[in-house]
Amino acid sequence: MARYGMVIDITKCSGCYDCFLACKDEHCGHDYPGYSAAQPMTGQFWMNIIEKERGQYPKVKLTYIPVPCRHCENAPCVSSARDGAVYRRPDGIIIIDPEKAKGHRQVVSSCPYGVIYWNEQKSLPQKCSLCAHLLDEGWKEPRCVEVCPTGALAFGDLDDPDSEVSRLIASGATESLHPEYGLKESVTYIGLPKTFVAGTVVFGDTDECAGGVAVTLTGNGKKMTIKTNFFGDFEFENLDKNEDYIIEIEAKGYKPQEMSAKTKTDVYLGIITL
Ligand code: SF4
Ligand code: SF4
Repeated sequence: MARYGMVIDITKCSGCYDCFLACKDEHCGHDYPGYSAAQPMTGQFWMNIIEKERGQYPKVKLTYIPVPCRHCENAPCVSSARDGAVYRRPDGIIIIDPEKAKGHRQVVSSCPYGVIYWNEQKSLPQKCSLCAHLLDEGWKEPRCVEVCPTGALAFGDLDDPDSEVSRLIASGATESLHPEYGLKESVTYIGLPKTFVAGTVVFGDTDECAGGVAVTLTGNGKKMTIKTNFFGDFEFENLDKNEDYIIEIEAKGYKPQEMSAKTKTDVYLGIITL
């Protein structure tokens, strides 16, 4: 018996919404008795895509974070339901029984990720079932994984050391979106956005972009030197939050510059004139 899991690589997600649409195609208007009731045409997002805007103008980045149910081992939705109306299958999939869960509105607020939706018409809590009805028919993956054009969604057996998900987890690169919830999630991420420090350097005497200038970032046990690009831009990515950094800029024939940055959020230092 497999134990299913998914790894979502944020660095590969282009925000195309194909997974979102495949989920709609599979579940809107389709009942799967014992697995899930039909998803309404509006108001529910079993494969939700969070669009996270980072930085300040003109240095703005957009990151897409697909957010389905994480099919947790410590699932508060299971304990919040009565009479086994929400349960964990032996393969790890958490199912909201579309008959037994009728009227169990309290289940919606039990999930700290907010991935359970209330169907007013059916008086039913609903969420992603990992397309369990298809997996039980022999499908190798849910519809969202099947359609992803960039390979951002990996799916497989967490107990098989040779599966892609197991290899990704073994690499140590995976993490939870909210480890503080302590849910032991079966859906984890690679490349969740941290913070960046960026800036643009110009030569004061010529007013031209300062390309190829050395920029050094020091702090939080790190020291990294990079060169500005053709446009004088530099960027240090994947920095820890709430840390203090010193940025030094040096170019032959110009007075060195030094500035500080605290990564409470992403930092754009603006135009720095040498
Ligand atoms: S993510 Fe929420 S709905 Fe899904 S299993 Fe965990 S607690 Fe339950
Ligand atoms: S289908 Fe893949 S690339 Fe497109 S939004 Fe979903 S995870 Fe991202």
